[in-house]
This record gives sequence, C-alpha cells and structure tokens, in this order.
Amino acid sequence: MLGLYLHIPFCSAICNYCNFNRGLFDAALKVRYVDALVTEIESERLRPERVASLCADTIYFGGGTPSLLEPEEVARIIQVCRSSFDVTADAEVTLEANPETVTVDRLKGFRDAGVNRLSFGVQSFRDEELKRLSRLHGAARARDAYREARIAGFVNVSLDLMMWLPAQPVADWLTSVDEAIALGPEHLSLYLLEVYPNAPLKDEMARARWSQAPDDDAAVMYLEAMDRLERAGYQQYEISNVARPGRHSRHNLKYWTDGEWLGFGCGAHSTSGGARWKNVAGTDDYVGRIDRGQPPAIERHQLSAAERVGDALFMGLRLVVGLEETAFADRYGVDVWSRYGPDLEPFLENGVLRRQGGRIFLTRRGMLVANEVMSVFV
Ligand code: SF4
Repeated sequence: MLGLYLHIPFCSAICNYCNFNRGLFDAALKVRYVDALVTEIESERLRPERVASLCADTIYFGGGTPSLLEPEEVARIIQVCRSSFDVTADAEVTLEANPETVTVDRLKGFRDAGVNRLSFGVQSFRDEELKRLSRLHGAARARDAYREARIAGFVNVSLDLMMWLPAQPVADWLTSVDEAIALGPEHLSLYLLEVYPNAPLKDEMARARWSQAPDDDAAVMYLEAMDRLERAGYQQYEISNVARPGRHSRHNLKYWTDGEWLGFGCGAHSTSGGARWKNVAGTDDYVGRIDRGQPPAIERHQLSAAERVGDALFMGLRLVVGLEETAFADRYGVDVWSRYGPDLEPFLENGVLRRQGGRIFLTRRGMLVANEVMSVFV
C-alpha cells in the first residue's frame, strides 16, 4: 500500500527556528498551487515508467501549514487522490494544523472533506516558550483548538511538542507533557529542538542570553517524558512518537518500515519501485513547471541493494520493536549480526542496544544516542 504525501508550503509567519520548505502565505499563489497539485496528482497515474501499485491507505497533508487551506480545497485534493488512486475506504487522512488557524467550523469542514486525523503543532503549553519560538498561538489557543477538534468530531488527534527549548528548565518542559496527558490525545510526537546555524533564533538566543539546558538535562527531559506518557497509557513505538494502542501514525510508519510513498507538491520526496525522487523545492518554480507541462521532479535516484539495506537498518532501528533478524535476512539477504555484530557488541555491553527474542533494538536510553549506533551502518 502506498502513502500519499501532499506538501502545503504556506505559513502565516515564519518561525525563528524553522528549516522546513515553506514560505509566507500568498492567497493568489495558493490558488495556483492547489491547481498545480491537483494536476500533478492526476498525471501520476499516467506516468509511463510508474511501477508501483496504485493502492493507497494513507493521505498526509504536511507543511508548512496545511490548515491554511480552505476546507473546499482540502476536499478537492482528497477527491483527486481518490479518483487517481485506489484509496482504501478506511484510509488514514491526516492534516497538520496550527492552533491559530482553526475554528470549530473550519475543523468540521476539514472533517467533511475527508480528513480523519489531525496533527496539531502545539510545541509547548507555556506562553513564554511559545513567544521565544515566535509561534503565533498561545497556550490557551492550543487548548481551545484541541477542544474544538473534539467538538468537530475528530477521534484521532496528535499533538507535537518540543523540548530543550531556549531557557527551558526540565520542570517547565514536564508541565507541557502533563498538560498534554491531561488533554488525552491519541498520539504525541516529542522532538528535541535543533537550533540550526542560520536560524534567526540563534541570534535571538545570543542577544537575550537564553541557552538550552545542559545535555544531561535534555536526557532527563526525554526519559522522564516517556516514563510519564507510559504511565498514562501511551506506548512508545518510535524514538519520538507515542500512541494509544492502535493509534500509531500509519503514514509515518511507512517511512520507518521501508514502505512506499508518493510525495506531491514543492520539495516533496517519493520512494517507490526501488527509486527515490524529489520535486523542485521552490513554490513558484513548482507551479511554473506544472503550468508548462514539465515534470516537477528534479532528482531521481535508483537505489542500490546496499543503499536499501542501509536505509532499512537506519529507519528500522528507530522503532521500539527494532529489527527482526530473520525477517530482515529474508527481505534483504543480509544477516545483520554476521555483518555488523563486532561493531554493535560494545553497544550491547553498555546497555544502549539489546539483542533478544530474535530482535535487535535500542533501549530507551540508547535512543538518546541513536546516531552513534547507526553510524555503524554507514
Ligand atoms: S508553522 Fe511550522 S512550517 Fe511554518 S514556519 Fe513555523 S515551524 Fe515552520
């Protein structure tokens, strides 16, 4: 089954830490962009070289801020996905939403359009932290947006939270975690803030003398949050993701289990039929190409067997269940332990990695140093 990813690159303002592919909202450009997106989706099934199945069981609107689209536009895009692919009746259809962009009516509109899962970019339930991140919403709006989603009938809601924020002590982070638990979403994603070298936030931190807590505190933030979530009935299934039983993100699991997906829109990536390709990143550039009848993909790469194995090891180890050794050997013809065992052994000894029940997996503490373990596969 394919996943369909739709990139919506518009935001009402640009957050000071963001390095996603996005730009400021422009109403006229948005109209042209939605037309281009629809054209790209419709033409996908006509591509002569396509080898993938046309069956899809997930649709994911990511961004940017997809909730800046009108519900009618979302409905039109979902409709064209359904007419161009065999989208299963019970497909997971996710829309990323920012709290300040929604009302009960707009959320009802998204639901009527076919969206059945919302992912809110909350980041924090503390106003001073949200201000430091230059987010447009405050904590009260985030709480209200969550309640409005329930009123609109959504039964599958995810919240994104960020830890290790500028000037954030461990205790403040945990108040956001507790508040999220009290609200009771079906799914949560927890990320560590990464301050990129050219992010405006970096300068603001220097000017305001905000610093991130020491590394040891970041570890406590992660471990204590995961413990609290587990005690509240959530199951961690990936380094950064927890869910109520059965409520994991079906779409995102495709990325971690060497699945196939097609990405539409500017900068969207696709992986299918053993190949990987990427669309041109600029919004204008993308719309121009589609208008001129040119393909939007600029980079196409046929994956070698070794690259597929490397990617599968990297992504599989992000999952709490880790790598199932026999299944991995059957699928890729590689005995992970024969090939990498000597390099992985030290990680077993210091409790970062475990090999048990035919599986190799990171311990929770190991998830904090996942990159080090994964460097073995490079
Ligand atoms: S809303 Fe999200 S995508 Fe848009 S600028 Fe902020 S962090 Fe980036």
